[in-house]
Parts: sequence; C-alpha cells; structure tokens
Amino acid sequence: MTKPSNPRWSELLIEAVEQPGLILEAYSRFHGFSLGNQIAALCQCLGRKIQPGPIATLRKWNELGRSVKAGQHAISLCMPVTVTPTTPRKSTPTCKDDDSITIFMWKPRWFVLAQTDGDAEVPPLEIPSWDKATALESLGIQEVAFTHPDGNVQGYAERRTIAISPLAQLPAKTLFHELAHIQLGHVAERGTDRTDLPKNLTEAEAEAVALLCLEALSLPGAEYARGYIQSWYGRGTPIPDPSAQRIFKAANRILRAGELKESRHERAA
Ligand SMILES: [Zn+2]
Repeated sequence: MTKPSNPRWSELLIEAVEQPGLILEAYSRFHGFSLGNQIAALCQCLGRKIQPGPIATLRKWNELGRSVKAGQHAISLCMPVTVTPTTPRKSTPTCKDDDSITIFMWKPRWFVLAQTDGDAEVPPLEIPSWDKATALESLGIQEVAFTHPDGNVQGYAERRTIAISPLAQLPAKTLFHELAHIQLGHVAERGTDRTDLPKNLTEAEAEAVALLCLEALSLPGAEYARGYIQSWYGRGTPIPDPSAQRIFKAANRILRAGELKESRHERAA
C-alpha cells in the first residue's frame, strides 16, 4: 500500500459540494474537530474504503484499551505547529522566542475505530444543537430590520449587521450567506473590504459557507446553494485553494459560534 498524500482544501470542498450528505456525516462523526478536518477525515476514510467512525491518536486508542491494527496508515488532519525558522536573524540574537511562528500542517496521527482492535467500547459522540441568537452574539453581529426596497433581495450585510427579508424564500440560507460575507471580510469595515476579490468569487464563497452550514445542521436550502456553486466552478473556474480554506474556516466559526453547551443527547434524556 502506498503512503496516502495530503488532502487539498479545494478538492475537499468539491467533494463536499458534489456529494449530498457528506457534510452532515462528517459533522456528526468527527464533531470534535474543525469542519475542514471533519471533511478531510471523512474523505480519507471513503477514499481508502475504511468504515468512518470514532477517531483518535494511537496514544488515545491505547489509553482506551484498543490497539491500531498492523499496516494501517494514519489519517492526516491539519493542525497548528509552532516552528522556529532555521536561518537565524543576524541582528536579533536575543529574541529567539519571538522568532517562532505558528503554521498549519497536515500531520498523519489519527486512526478511526475500524483501524483498531480491542474489546473496549467507545463512548457515543454528543452533537450540540445550534442557536441563531447565540451565534449572532458570539460573532458580534446584529440582525437589523430589512429596509431594502427591492422585493427580490433576500438579505444583505453591512459592517457587522445583517438583514433578512421577511419574504426570503430560504431564510436560513440567506442568514448563513450574509454571516459568511462578514466572516470572510467581504463587507466594508474600516477599509478591510476585500476589493481584491471579484464579485462572482465573493458570492460563491458566501454561498459555499451557506451550503456547509445548512448541510451540517440539516436545514433546508442546501440544494440551491449546491447548484449555485456547481454552476460557478462548472464553467471552468477552478476553486482557488485559499478560497476553499477561507470557506471552511468561516463555516466552522459560524457553526461553533451557535453551539449550545447543552447537547441534543442530554436534552433528549
Ligand atoms: Zn451575497
């Protein structure tokens, strides 16, 4: 078996767009990780025909009383790594600590349940429920009254406010789309507007964030977002890798922001 190569954000995003249900499965199975890593873990399992399931490092499996089967390749997740540049700066020999920087790297350190042996049971994963008011407060974004005169406009974002039309066809999709514009830095705020990005790219980025959030939370509107994104890159426009990475990061932030401490599992009990 050859060593698997590292995932690419743009390819993971295409997988998530092309396969309805993949985002929800990744969100429910690998909830402890960032959304990008959830999808990376699931895509690696599917690509290598490994049954997706609980995931942990070798050490954690051993602590749980299970061992990793011989010959299994670890699953790579993207994680922060603190590094010190190898070329020392000549003029600042005393500020060594300040030279270290944090970068994100793919590290093959995780195994899913199917790659392990043992009798020890794995506790079920608890998925918190998501709440709009909690998300808005945590993101520092306010919802204001919709005042746009055009009846076709579904919603808009301005600085750190959003407005959703009372006539919006898919209010949840519009909510995530407008939150995404703010999180992605598309909205003018003290000169941070991403005027470097073309309009069709910013719209596709916001719609991709909406798709990820809608599918993760099983809310209506994902099919419309999916069609929009497919028509965007279907016209021969590849998804730039930095865009895909920004999309995963923004969706993850929005999803985390709305999580209630009390989980669905506990509430059902
Ligand atoms: Zn938009």
